[in-house]
Amino acid sequence: MLDAIVRGGRVVTPQGVSDVDVAILDGKIAALAHPGVLEAEARRVIDATGKIVLPGGIEPHTHIGIPVPERWAGRPEVFTQPPEAATRAAAFGGVTTLLDFAGSLPVTPDVPVPTDPIMRQLESRRQAFDGHSYTDFAYHYILAGQVGPQTIGEIGEAVQSGQASFKIFTTFAGRVPYGHLQAIFQEVGRQGGIMAVHAEDDDMVVYMEEKLKREGRDQGYNLHLVHSNISEDVSFRKVIRMAEHAEVGVYFVHVTAKEGVAAVGEARDRGQPVYGEALHNYLEFTCDDYRKPNGTRIHTYPAIKYASDRDALKLGLEDGRVSTTATDEYTTYKDVKFWGQTVESVCGGHNGIETRLPVAFTKFVSQGGMSLNRFADITSTNAAKILGLYPRKGVIAAGSDADLVFIDPAVDKTLTLDDLHADSDYSIWEGFRCQGYPTLTMLRGKVIVEDGALVGSSSDGRWLSRRVAPEVLARPVC
Ligand SMILES: [Zn+2]
Repeated sequence: MLDAIVRGGRVVTPQGVSDVDVAILDGKIAALAHPGVLEAEARRVIDATGKIVLPGGIEPHTHIGIPVPERWAGRPEVFTQPPEAATRAAAFGGVTTLLDFAGSLPVTPDVPVPTDPIMRQLESRRQAFDGHSYTDFAYHYILAGQVGPQTIGEIGEAVQSGQASFKIFTTFAGRVPYGHLQAIFQEVGRQGGIMAVHAEDDDMVVYMEEKLKREGRDQGYNLHLVHSNISEDVSFRKVIRMAEHAEVGVYFVHVTAKEGVAAVGEARDRGQPVYGEALHNYLEFTCDDYRKPNGTRIHTYPAIKYASDRDALKLGLEDGRVSTTATDEYTTYKDVKFWGQTVESVCGGHNGIETRLPVAFTKFVSQGGMSLNRFADITSTNAAKILGLYPRKGVIAAGSDADLVFIDPAVDKTLTLDDLHADSDYSIWEGFRCQGYPTLTMLRGKVIVEDGALVGSSSDGRWLSRRVAPEVLARPVC
């Protein structure tokens, strides 16, 4: 007997969109079949009439349950929302898997980062989520500062254990100097992992911070002058060039400028395995919005730029140069988010994990005419491929995990705080009109959100072992 059959929906598979039944057994998709063909009985028949059935959302970029730097929060001992809250919000937003971070960033350059072995830090981060997550999860491992040969020597064991992606910053306190970076790139490339890169030109960032301070122009609404278009242009191209020499695949977190989209696109045209991510707030807002009252609420680092950059990101997601959408989820309350007022103290991030799918669906499908297949790609499939979860995750196909989200395209509602489930007291999406909304979320065959109710458990989520397919690292495949 099957565990469940999903009937009556428009199901988005790699072959297209079709009216098929989805048979589910032991947490996996057992079969897809035309209506009436599946004869087996099922414990539950789920009616998806009028709904679009998509692979569960994969959120590739979150910061959950971590300390907020005092220079952003104005006080010590502040944390972003814990796994229970973030994954609850994720589940309501149609997300079934998220990628957070393990390893640590120094708060200031003079405080050394822990040198515990990678495997031990991964294990302690897993413990933070085990039993506290409604969704499945995995981590990019952060390598920060002057990463030594011993740590680099641990990368192979980590990749073998299912740790597929490593994160570095080229700016901020955890910046990796370029020599060390080249050593990391070579080793991660050799071991078959992939690099997640936050690329900015640190010299330009620091110079502009000091210049604006000196000139009395360091208000938060000038963040885009510090984390600038030219900084993205220069740093992306440098990283791409280094990655080409090291033969490593690169996943640029938060592409924010038209120059970044162009750099990624040109590398891909040359056949280099380079992938880009766009955050959903960058698809809506511009730096003009920073000047509104509490306007830096929309801010996530690097910085939201101009209308032409917003439009380039949207176009990149449509034409294939940009592969994924993400949120850089970093949820705090207003008192923290609105505390910092300068280009150095505005708190990064926002609560976004719940709104990514409905916002992207509204912008791209309801208003933009994007195909449902491309929508699945940019919300789930591509992240699964790039980060080593495919085809277990990111696709509706026989043998894959039964992670599904139903989107009702007929829902037309203007978001209020009451619609959302984060531990927070604001959302930058209050007042945003959603045309289409997630109505049911299923994780490995178990419904976890249905008709506005959380019916999953925070012990449902599992850590995911990952391995990036060789073709993903050989050339741009998505
Ligand atoms: Zn981030």
